[in-house]
Order: sequence, then structure tokens, then C-alpha cells
Amino acid sequence: MERLQGIAVSPGVAIGEVLVMDTEGFRIPRRFLPRDAVEDELERLNRAIADASAEIERHREKVEKQLGTEYAAIFSAHIQMLNDRGLRSKLEEMIRQRHYSPEYSVSRALRHYAKVIQSLDGVMQERATDIFDIEKRLLRHLFGKRREELAHIHSEVLVLAHNLTPSETSNLNPKYVKGFVTEIGGPGSHTAIVAEALGIPAVVGIGPFLADVSGGETAIIDGYQGLVILHPDEETLARYRHEVVQYRSHAAKLEKLRDLPAETADGVRIQLLGNIEFPYEVEQCQKHGADGIGLYRTEFLFMARDEEPTEEEQTTAYSAVAEAMRDHPVVMRTIDLGADKLPSVPFPEDEGNPFLGLRSIRLALKYPALFKTQLRAILRSSTAGNISIMFPLVSTLLELKHAKMVLREAIEDLEEEGIEFDRDIKVGMMVEVPSVVMMMDHFVEEVDFFSIGTNDLIQYVLAVDRSNKDVAGLYTASDPSVLRMINIAVRAAKENEVPISMCGQMSGNPMYTMLLLGMGLRSLSVTPAAIPEIKQVCRRVSIATCERVAERALKLESARDVRAFLREELAKALPETPV
Ligand code: PEP
Ligand code: MG
Repeated sequence: MERLQGIAVSPGVAIGEVLVMDTEGFRIPRRFLPRDAVEDELERLNRAIADASAEIERHREKVEKQLGTEYAAIFSAHIQMLNDRGLRSKLEEMIRQRHYSPEYSVSRALRHYAKVIQSLDGVMQERATDIFDIEKRLLRHLFGKRREELAHIHSEVLVLAHNLTPSETSNLNPKYVKGFVTEIGGPGSHTAIVAEALGIPAVVGIGPFLADVSGGETAIIDGYQGLVILHPDEETLARYRHEVVQYRSHAAKLEKLRDLPAETADGVRIQLLGNIEFPYEVEQCQKHGADGIGLYRTEFLFMARDEEPTEEEQTTAYSAVAEAMRDHPVVMRTIDLGADKLPSVPFPEDEGNPFLGLRSIRLALKYPALFKTQLRAILRSSTAGNISIMFPLVSTLLELKHAKMVLREAIEDLEEEGIEFDRDIKVGMMVEVPSVVMMMDHFVEEVDFFSIGTNDLIQYVLAVDRSNKDVAGLYTASDPSVLRMINIAVRAAKENEVPISMCGQMSGNPMYTMLLLGMGLRSLSVTPAAIPEIKQVCRRVSIATCERVAERALKLESARDVRAFLREELAKALPETPV
């Protein structure tokens, strides 16, 4: 049994067989061959080795011609390794005696060699890279294509990968992918957010561990504690199976709150909205009794595709959401591409600091045609329901005015073309950059509503990358500086009677609910599955208690103190719930 500690990003427990995706996306399931397939499979392996050797030989000849024999020597070494008698007989033994598939045998044998070499001192360690190289090449020939798409996984697995991009994550089918673990990634990454939206337990930022895993073994992913347990013993398995049952019964109890209002014990109604990335998530919002959609991350429609979606395509997607939500509000956030959400538009690939670079509203303003097309689509879909527009990552007033100007142009165009849209459409912005908090007295004059994006606000207040595991300890909503930022923003909005909500992940964490209500927030937008739990807290507490909690929390001096205090207060309010 091996326990690996990472960062918990999506709650839940998953138990199952692991599927390894390395950086090139191969998956290496442990598959057993029927007895009568052994000879054919050995033949397939031999063909793959011959093809891979021929391919390397072609590279060798080319390099020799261009750079000389010295540089070509590495390829000769690869051919030698690939055809090594020891390796060949090991593979043959795995296929013949143990009935493993050639893919699994190759992966297991070569990873074992690489691991032994990695444990040696000095220059020999580097040879492990060569072995991984050979493994990849051979697998490519065995699979016959570069990449088995994650979307095509059709058996229940736990995915282990070096990294999963947000768009790859959004392609996972929760019916089959029961959990995932990545070597890199941080607590605020969009990969983490998507995992939570899909309800897939996930742990990120484990550090390098994939070299030790071939695939096919059993593992447990504990998305509460950020733990991964490889080869669990029976006792551990039994304990976690019990936890899964308990969790399901807790969730079933919470679902009973579905049709009750999110109203505090002293009768103050709290608006609980859902965050979505795709139209199909509307169903989750309805299932959990959301009052509307407080954040529609429209950029997901633009990711992992070669061309940007057309105006028609966008209008269809947005209208579907608006229609399904009927008269409930739907906040359409305009494209928030860039940083870890890669767009299909031409894009500077080597940004030194992508989270400080050309992302979000900055990118939209740089590509006005792209931006305007989206605004037209949003406006056109506004007749289908109760839609408003929200601009992300605004950092200066001028930027906001510029965005509003593009919106005005889109409106004028539609008017000229005689196309219907909601003329009273509300326009808001995210509060996720500290400069905005400092300038709230001006921003209140410019928008109809605000929504606080803590995922980014935390990273910009504390200068800590939301997707970097090595600084994950600093990335926390509990930091008193973050609380003070939020407090300033909420006060300014309330004093000027501009509605303000919160849609960062902080609002979906019950530990913060009392604090946020105490600061004056009356609207929270959360991952749909978190709605019942937040509603439960709202229904148990009074605003007076929340105000007392907020007042105390704002005076504390460290994130640790804030967390300890908030946990204690939540435990008092909901003694039966584990925190
Ligand atoms: C945020 O930053 O809090 C937010 C909601 O936006 P995103 O997570 O998509 O950056
Ligand atoms: Mg953001």
C-alpha cells in the first residue's frame, strides 16, 4: 500500500482501477489476453518493434547526414535497447505466461527498467529518459495512433496523469471516469473547478509518481483529504467503501432541502445561484434548486477546437440555457480565455506570466471581431429568458468603458438590422483584481451589478499562482487580506445600492458562508452540487450571529487563525456536520 499526499480539489471518494495517461496521452490498461490470442499478440508486438526500429533508423540516417555520426549515436543506442534480447524475452514471458496485453507488458517492463536506472547516481539517471522515449514510441506503434481520446474511455477507471488541461477535463465522462489525479496543478486551477462541476473526486499536485504506475492496479482517491492510495489493503478498502455509503446518505438528506428557500433563521432570503461551464449543467442547477445561474463560463465553448464558434452556434447554446432557466436570472460572462484556458484564436504562446498577460477581457478587447460576435449572440439570446452580461477580469475603468463601447456597437448593429433583443439588459463586471476594489467608488457608477471572483482575487492579492502546487499553501481564501478586500468591495457596492454577489469557489465552501453573510452578501453563486450544503448553513444561522462572526474574523491576523475560528463557528451552528 502506498499513500501519496496531494491537494484536494474536488470532494468525494473513488475506488477503482487506474488508467495512466502520460504527457503524450497514452493509456495503458492491464488487459488479459484469451489463451488463443497469444501468438497473434506476440506477432503484433514483433511488428511494432520492427516498425519502431525502422522509424528510429530513418531518424538516425537523417541526423547523421545533417550533424554527423556523433549525434546519430543516440539513435543507434535506442535501436539496440529496443532489440535487446533480455527485454524481448521479458516481454515474451509476460505475454505468454501471464497473458498480459503487449501494451501493458511494454509499459510495465520499460517503466521498471527506467525506475531502476533513475535510482542510480550521476549521469546514468538521464538514461531513464531514453527508456521512457522508447516506451512511448513502441506504444504509439502498438496503439496505431497517437492518442486515445479521453472522451472515448468506456469502462470505469481512475485517471492518473501528469496534467489535465481544463478542456481535457471537461471532456471526461463522469459515468466512466470516477476520479483523477495529476502530478502538477494547484487548488484554484480551472481543471480543479471543472472536476468539481462534473462531480469527479480529484487530487492534484501530487508531484512525480507516474513512473511507478503502469495501470490496471487498484487505487483509492480521497478527494476530501487530497490523498491517493495505491494498492490499498483490505482494511483500507473497507473503510473507504463505508465512507462512500455514508456520503451518499448525507447527500440524500441534503437533497430534501431542494424545494425549501435559502432563508436564514431570522427570515432573510439568500439568493443561491449555480456556476456552469456548459449548457448541459443547467440540469444540475435545476436538480439542486438553484435560483438561477450566477456565472456561465462561456469560454468553454471556445476551447479545444480549431475554429471559434459561429454567432449562430453561440446563440443556440446561450438561448438553450436562458430558455431552460425560464425567468430565473442567467449571468453570461463574456469570454475569459487565456492563461490556463486556451483559445482557438491566434495566441502568443510564450507568455512569461500568462495569468498577468493577455487573458480575459484584455484578450477580448484585442480581438474585437471575436468579442463583438459573442456580444451579438448573447444579446440575441436575451429574448429567450432573463439574461445579463458580465465582463471578467476588468482592472481599470478605461477597460470597462472600452468593453461597454463594444457592447454599444453590437447593440446599434442589431438595432439597424432589426434583430430583437432585451433593451433593458443589465451589464455587470467581476471584482477579481485588487485595483478594482481600490476604485470601487468609481466602478459603482458604471455597472448594474458586481460579482466577486475570489479564485482570481486570491491570486492577485497574495501574488500566488492559483495553479501552482508549490505555492498552494499560500493560496487561500482565509487570508485576512483577502477577507478585507472582499469586505471593502461589499461595503462600497451596498453603500451605493449596486447589487453584489460572489461566484468564486469560496462561496461554495460552507466554512465561509456565515462570514460572507455577515459581511453583507445576500447572493452566492456556487458549483451546483454545493447548493444544498450552503442552503443548509443559511437556514441554520441568523444574520446577527453572522455579523458577529465576520467582525471577529476580520480582526484576525493569519489564515490559520481564520480557518480555525470559522470551523469552530460552523461546528457550533451545525454540530452534526463534519467540518
Ligand atoms: C474567479 O476568478 O473567482 C472566477 C469565478 O472566475 P474563474 O474561476 O473562471 O477565473
Ligand atoms: Mg476569474
